[in-house]
Amino acid sequence: MNLDKLRINGARLQQSLEKMAQIGATPGGGVQRLALSDEDKKARDLFVHWLKEIDCEVTIDQMGNIFGRRAGKNRNLAPVMSGSHIDSQPKGGRFDGILGVMSALEVLRTLHENNVETQRDIVIVDWTNEEGSRFAPAMVSSGVWVGKLDLEWAYARQDINGKKQGEELARIGYKGELPAKSFPIHAYYECHIEQGPQLEKKGKVIGAPKGVLCLHWYDIRLKGTANQVGPTPMAGRNDCLLAAAEMIQVVNKVAHIKGDMVATVGELHNHPNSRNIIPDGVHFTVDIRSWEDEHAIDAWEMMKLEFEAIANRHGTPIDMEITWRVKRAPFDEELVYNVLEASEKLGYSSLRMVSGAGHDASYINQIAPAAMIFIPSKGGRSHVEVEESSWEDCSKGANVLLQCILKSAMQA
Ligand SMILES: [Zn+2]
Repeated sequence: MNLDKLRINGARLQQSLEKMAQIGATPGGGVQRLALSDEDKKARDLFVHWLKEIDCEVTIDQMGNIFGRRAGKNRNLAPVMSGSHIDSQPKGGRFDGILGVMSALEVLRTLHENNVETQRDIVIVDWTNEEGSRFAPAMVSSGVWVGKLDLEWAYARQDINGKKQGEELARIGYKGELPAKSFPIHAYYECHIEQGPQLEKKGKVIGAPKGVLCLHWYDIRLKGTANQVGPTPMAGRNDCLLAAAEMIQVVNKVAHIKGDMVATVGELHNHPNSRNIIPDGVHFTVDIRSWEDEHAIDAWEMMKLEFEAIANRHGTPIDMEITWRVKRAPFDEELVYNVLEASEKLGYSSLRMVSGAGHDASYINQIAPAAMIFIPSKGGRSHVEVEESSWEDCSKGANVLLQCILKSAMQA
């Protein structure tokens, strides 16, 4: 059989995605399937059922990661892996994460019904709690799996009701015995919605990110002098919220001036947050992302200087902390090439790009060759109920995934 001609079943992929979208469906047309919730359990059970239908060997590890393995001819060779996550944001969309799991499943169903034998095993994976919205941080289970995060620490993470991640894993029956520890991987592919506007804007179908942007987090704390707003004249106030407002403008301005980066203040706490008291404490965050680590650090140095000048002018002492710096993660060049080549052979337009968001592939990339396949997000929107991608694009993404998996899994 000519495997280049093999195609996935788009209608079946759509059905699988629609079935999954019913689990935790929200009135606004999205899904709410928080990690380790009853909805997550229900979706996992269905996924496991579907894996068994096509004779996959199913294993669950200590972090609840679900692996479905399809045997190849030479079981001693490192397998090809593909997958993503089943959990969602609160009031999230129907495509984020689940597309990568369902498209990998569709690939295996296609191989199964065509009796295709590959050299290597193929493993589908659902990574537990990629979103990090119920239990922080995000991508926790792929992080534990590659040895970057500690298992006991991950178990102890709590949600807002004080429930521990480890206990919730056990409660839904997905605290497995298998050590959450990586095994050799020949190639890892993750199909995902773009979650940004580039593909749609440029009229392209498949995105091949060369890697994930660096991610730098900062925490800024300002002290002011609280006072009754009525009797206190404007001159001589130490209003730290006012100082923060100027700093937020600086973050935006610097990102524009320097270009090739994004910088955002997404969190702000004001104390005592009362309409008739001059604020005496502000805490806000800065998130800077760029393909060049140095570029992002230069931007921070520029912001820092301006922050200090603003704090001085307002008489509001400032404390600046580097909270987290993750270097950019370039994907494997050969695998990225495979994505572009498969798109071309299938007649789909493609775009070389970067990923602004982190994914499980970022962690797997640290221990094995990895690449991602992006498809367009309508209006560039994600982590919202209106998140949308066309069924046609989902099929195209899955067809690229099929060809990439075949290419890597046929390598002796
Ligand atoms: Zn995702």
